[in-house]
Amino acid sequence: MLRPNCLKDGKYLVVTLSYDDGTKHDKRLVEIMNRYGVRGTFHLNSSRVASGAPDHVGADEIPEVYKGHEVSVHTVTHPHPSWISPEAMLVEMFEDRKALEKVCGYPVRGMSYPFGDFNDKVIEQAKACGIVYSRTTRTRQDFQLPEDFLRWDATCHHRNNLMENTERFLSFKDERCKRPRLLYVWGHSYEFNDQNNWDLIEGFCEKVGNKPYVWYATNIEIYDYEQARQRLQFSADSSMVYNPSAISVWVEDNGTPVEVKPGELYREQGK
Ligand SMILES: [Zn+2]
Repeated sequence: MLRPNCLKDGKYLVVTLSYDDGTKHDKRLVEIMNRYGVRGTFHLNSSRVASGAPDHVGADEIPEVYKGHEVSVHTVTHPHPSWISPEAMLVEMFEDRKALEKVCGYPVRGMSYPFGDFNDKVIEQAKACGIVYSRTTRTRQDFQLPEDFLRWDATCHHRNNLMENTERFLSFKDERCKRPRLLYVWGHSYEFNDQNNWDLIEGFCEKVGNKPYVWYATNIEIYDYEQARQRLQFSADSSMVYNPSAISVWVEDNGTPVEVKPGELYREQGK
């Protein structure tokens, strides 16, 4: 029996970080994350990065500062999305996307809602802008992947039970019937500066980082993997699976993770 319950590289645990606003404190955060192999997504306001504001990462610094991570939309000027017209919100998202893509050199397809504020109309506009996922400021502690990527709730803000959640998450390494588990932490890097608690995120990265059984992903990598996983085509008896996507997907073959390459038809061993 083949089961579609593995993440990238046959792992079951994935960790991602999501930090907003692009202040200069992102540099220190990225440096800490890089030391422990932790990866994430940085949601930027293009009006702030483009203005050369000294307290923000400059447009020219973006490719180097966020190398190995993802840059994502956070609107041009950080309005309350539900307080402005749908037309204005469309411009806020689309123009931010365009400005960030120009700087980063790749399609920018993700977002986080400024102030965590959104409604159904905002989501419609986001879709029209080609945004495929967006993070809220709500949280859920069940470590599940989102059912709706445009209402993507984090596990916790870093100030709320971060280490307790991390310990609980890592304990799933030994669960018998494995399935994908996500630890998603969000915040703003300037909070570590304001609260003088850089040791919190350093301790977190040290605890969760550099583990061979954890996949360290950006937000969009999780979205793209999930799309590919959902597209797998199984035979009626689940002994065969075809991967029509352009990236590898891992499935369990009688409990053992195996890679199904792009365009490959995989048959259960011994069948
Ligand atoms: Zn923000």
